[in-house]
Amino acid sequence: MSTVLVTGASRGIGAACAIALAGAGFDVGIGYVNDEAGAKATATAVEATGRKAHIVQGDIADAAAAESVVNATEEALGPLDALVLNAGITRDGLMMRMSDDDWDAVIRTNLSGSFFTARAALRGMMKRRAGSIVAVSSVVGMMGNAGQANYAAAKAGVIGLTKSLAKEAGGRGVRANAVAPGYITTDMTAGLSDDVRDTLLSHTPLGRLGTPEDVASLVTFLCTDAAAFITGTVIPVDGGLAM
Ligand code: NAD
Repeated sequence: MSTVLVTGASRGIGAACAIALAGAGFDVGIGYVNDEAGAKATATAVEATGRKAHIVQGDIADAAAAESVVNATEEALGPLDALVLNAGITRDGLMMRMSDDDWDAVIRTNLSGSFFTARAALRGMMKRRAGSIVAVSSVVGMMGNAGQANYAAAKAGVIGLTKSLAKEAGGRGVRANAVAPGYITTDMTAGLSDDVRDTLLSHTPLGRLGTPEDVASLVTFLCTDAAAFITGTVIPVDGGLAM
C-alpha cells in the first residue's frame, strides 16, 4: 500500500492527480486552503476507487502550516511514499506595474510553499530511504511569459529546487522531478480571451489545450516505481508548445 499527499487538490490539476493516484493504488492526502467542499468532492472520488482519502486544510505559504499538513497526512494515512507539490496561484500583470504584494504572494505560495512542503516530507523519506517528490512547474518557468514575471520566476525556481533536491536526496533513494504543463483547461486559465487561446492553439502541434488528466497521468507515473530510475528531470506536458 502506498501513500501520497497532493497539495491544492480541491480542484483542477491537483484533484485530477489525487484521483489518478488513487487509481494507481495510493491512499491520498488532499491538501486545500479554502475550498473544503472541493476537497470533500475529491475525497469522495478517491474513495470511489477503493483507496483511503484524508482532507487537510493549511496554507502552504506558511512554513508551520505546510509542516502540519504533512504531519497530519502521515498521522492519518501513514508515512508518505510520494508528494505532489501542486498548489499554486497567479497574480498576473506587466512587470512595470506589478505590486510588491503580487510579486511576494506568488513567490511565497508557488516557490516557498513548495520548499516548505518538500522539506517537511523529506526528513521521513530520507530516513526510510524511499520517496518520490513531483513538483508542478510550468512551461512558463522555462520560456518566460509577458505579464507573468512573478509566476515565471517562481516556476523557474521550482525547477532549480527540484534539481537540487534530486542531487541532495538521490543517495537516500528519494527522487524529485518536475512536470511543466502547457495551457491546461482549469479555473486558473478560465479567464483567457479567445485571442490568447487561438494564439496558444496555433503554437501547439497537438492542436488543443490540455486537460487536468493529461497532467495527472504523467504525475502518477513519476510517483510510482515505474519511474524508479528517473530523477532531476523536467518533463513538459504541453502538446508540443514549448519545444
Ligand atoms: P487551480 O487554481 O484550479 O488550483 C490551484 C489549487 O491550489 C487549488 O486547490 C487551491 O486551493 C490551491 N492553493 C492555492 N494557494 C494555496 C495555498 N496557499 N495553500 C494551499 N493550497 C493552495 O489551478 P490549476 O490550474 O489546477 O493549477 C495547479 C498547478 O498547476 C499550479 O501550481 C499551477 O501553477 C500549475 N499549472 C497550471 C497550468 C494551467 O494551465 N492550468 C499550467 C502550468 C502549471
